[in-house]
Amino acid sequence: MDGLKRMLATMLMGVLPVSVAGQEPPASTPNGGAAASEAGAWKPDERKRQALVESLRALQREPDNVLFHSAMCYDMTMPPASVQYTCETCGAVTDLPYQGPGELSVELPYLKRSLRDLPVKVTVDASSLCSKCGGGKPCGIVLTTSCGECGKTFSWSVSTSEEKDRLKLLFIAHPVRFFDAGPKGMGMDGTDAKRVIENADYIASRLFCEDCRKKLGLTGK
Ligand SMILES: [Zn+2]
Ligand SMILES: [Zn+2]
Repeated sequence: MDGLKRMLATMLMGVLPVSVAGQEPPASTPNGGAAASEAGAWKPDERKRQALVESLRALQREPDNVLFHSAMCYDMTMPPASVQYTCETCGAVTDLPYQGPGELSVELPYLKRSLRDLPVKVTVDASSLCSKCGGGKPCGIVLTTSCGECGKTFSWSVSTSEEKDRLKLLFIAHPVRFFDAGPKGMGMDGTDAKRVIENADYIASRLFCEDCRKKLGLTGK
């Protein structure tokens, strides 16, 4: 019962009107460079962005309000050894090991679509998955975030299976009521304050620069 009450409280917090103060439009970045080509197609959703900030604050403030839920696992029991990846830019076909780079290449279209729905601009560069375009760079994808508050860009990379799975945290609906605890029988159900804060920290650090995380109170504890 107590858990239900807390859950309701969390839900209500997300519904409360967000303060109107400080709703200046995000700073534009005239030095857009490579990112500018996609800028026209992308428009930030200010209401969603505020909800995201509020939600991340709530997660760090009251991590016990969120439950972990294990789910059915649909992973392939016999994954292929490798995946043939066709480069969008040059058309070359590269054999990628399934674990990590191969999985990333398969999920790339889904990832690009999901990124477009975020209230913070994040673009993906998959050129290093291609043996020609990658030019010997470590095999993976590079994501570039325009900070959700100040617009400053920073890049980070994803190459392993675990890192790929963690990306899903970025697309969770806010306010958060449940986190995925992994496949049934593997993860632990219930509350886990430390993991909630870790998850909130992961999301915040991929969508906001360090200075803005401090300013917004999203640095965790
Ligand atoms: Zn290529
Ligand atoms: Zn910033």
